[in-house]
Amino acid sequence: TLIARDPVSYRARISPDRIAARSLADGITVTYREMDERIARCASVLNELLGSSVPGATVAALGRNSIDHLVLAFACQRVNCIFVPLNWRLGAVELTDIVADCDARLLVFEDDFGPVARELGAKSGVKLLGYQGDESSLDGLIRKADPLKPLPATGNEPAILLYTSGTTGTPKGVILTRSNLFYAAYNFSVVGEVAPGAVTFCDLPFFHTIGLVAIARTTLMMGGTLIVSDRFLPERTIDCLNDEDLAVTHYFAVPQMATILRDQPGYSGERMKRLKAIFIGGAPLPPPLVEAYLADGVALVNGYGMSEAGTVLHMPIDHQAISTRHGSVGFPAPLIDVKIMDAQGQACEAGQVGELWIRGPSISSGYWKKPEQTAASFVNGWFRTGDLVRCDEDGFHIIADRLKDMYISGGENVYPAEVEAVLLSHDAVAEVAVIGVPDEKWGEVGVAFVVARNSAKVGADELINHCKSRLATYKRPARIEFLEAIPRNAAGKPLKHVLRDRATG
Ligand code: ATP
Ligand code: MG
Repeated sequence: TLIARDPVSYRARISPDRIAARSLADGITVTYREMDERIARCASVLNELLGSSVPGATVAALGRNSIDHLVLAFACQRVNCIFVPLNWRLGAVELTDIVADCDARLLVFEDDFGPVARELGAKSGVKLLGYQGDESSLDGLIRKADPLKPLPATGNEPAILLYTSGTTGTPKGVILTRSNLFYAAYNFSVVGEVAPGAVTFCDLPFFHTIGLVAIARTTLMMGGTLIVSDRFLPERTIDCLNDEDLAVTHYFAVPQMATILRDQPGYSGERMKRLKAIFIGGAPLPPPLVEAYLADGVALVNGYGMSEAGTVLHMPIDHQAISTRHGSVGFPAPLIDVKIMDAQGQACEAGQVGELWIRGPSISSGYWKKPEQTAASFVNGWFRTGDLVRCDEDGFHIIADRLKDMYISGGENVYPAEVEAVLLSHDAVAEVAVIGVPDEKWGEVGVAFVVARNSAKVGADELINHCKSRLATYKRPARIEFLEAIPRNAAGKPLKHVLRDRATG
C-alpha cells in the first residue's frame, strides 16, 4: 500500500519554509510545513468526529475560498473521506438535494452561511460544524488535536465529489479519486506552465474543478504559492496584480471578470505583462476581449474542461497562436486521449463536427448513485463529453456547442452558439440564448431569446435582418422573443431546458 501522501505533505518534506498559501481576507500566510501540520491535525479531528464511518464518509463544506477549506479537503484525503465542496450560490432547496444525494455525514460551514447550514441540518439531520468560533468549532478542535498520520491508501479511493453546474439537468456528483486528481493537476501544470515559484491568484470558487483542482491543487503540488481570494473585488485584484512583491504569475477568471478588470482605473497593461497569462475557462471567450488584452501584451488563454475530467483542451500560452486562432481551445492536455465521433458512433472525418469522447487517468469513472447516467456517458473506457467539437488541420480544437443544444433544421445541423455570436454582434443585444423547437415543415427551427441593451428599442425584424447577411437561411432564427433576463444557473450558464419549456409550453 501507498501512504496517502497529498501534495502538501510532499512539499512539506522538500520545501517546508516556502509560502504555500496567502489569504487575502485576513492577510494570513502559511508555509508548507504549517499547512501540512494543520491538515494532519484536521485529519485527527475528522477521525474523532466520524469514528467508524471513516473511511468513505462524505464531508460537505459550505464556505467561500479560504485556507481552511483546502485544509479540510486534504484532511479528508488523509483519512480516506470524501470532500464535497458545495456551491454557496445555490439556494437552500438545491443544496438540500445535494446534501441528501451525497449522504453527507458532516457539514462544515462558514459563519456567513450559518442560517442556510442550520436549515440543511434541520432537514437532513447532518452533523454541523462551524469553521471558526469557540472551542467546538473546527478551528478550536484543530488547535487541540494531535497530528494524525495518513491512513494507508491505494490512490483509487474517492477523494472528492464534485457536483456539475447543472446546465443540462440536475447537478451530478462526479466521483474523483486521488489518482484522478493527481493526473488532473499534472495535466494543468503542463498546459498552464505551473512550476515551483509560480504565484497563482484564484478569484474563482473552490467548488468547481478549475478553482479546486486546476488552480489550488496544481499550485500546491508544484510547490508554488496560492493566493486565496474569498471574493472578487476588482480593485483589490488589480492592486495585487500590480504588486511587484507579490509577483503573481498566473491569474484565473471568467470572461466577465476579465472585462471588468480592464476597465478599472488602476489597470496597467505594462504591469500585467509580468503575468504568464490570464486563464479563462468554462464558457466561450469573446474574440474582442482577447484582442484588447493582446494589444497590451497580455495573453488570455481559453481552456476547456469539465467536472468529470479537469482540463481537457487548452490553448498554448503563445501570443502568436492566440492571435491567429480566435475561438479555439487549442490542444489536448498531455494525458488526455481524444476522438471526435459522429451520431452513428463512427470517427469523424478531419474538420467535421462531432461529439468529443475522451479518456485518460484524470477522468472520473462515474457519477455518485446514478447508474443510468453513468452507463450512458462512460462507455468502454471513454467518457462522452456531450460537447460538439471540430479539429482544424493543425490540431487546434474549436467547440461548436453542446450536443443537447444542437438542432436540425431542414436536415442541416445548427449550432446555437454560432447564431448567438451573430446576434451578440448587434449593438442593441446585451444577452442572447438560441434554442431549437419542433416545426412541422423544417423538423426544427430556432427561437432566439434576446435581452436588449439598456432597454434599447430594437425590433425582431431588425435582428432577423442582421442575421440575413451573416447566416445561411436555415440557421436564422424563425422567431425572436424579448426577455428581461436569460434564466441562468448558479455558474451563470443559460438554462436552455427552461427556455425550451417556455417556447413549446
Ligand atoms: P451539467 O453537466 O450538470 O449539465 P455543466 O456541463 O455546465 O453542467 P461543468 O462540468 O461545470 O458542468 O461544465 C463543463 C462544461 O462547460 C463543458 O462540458 C462545456 O460544455 C462547457 N465549457 C467548459 N469550458 C468551455 C470553453 N472554454 N468554451 C466553451 N464551453 C466550455
Ligand atoms: Mg456537463
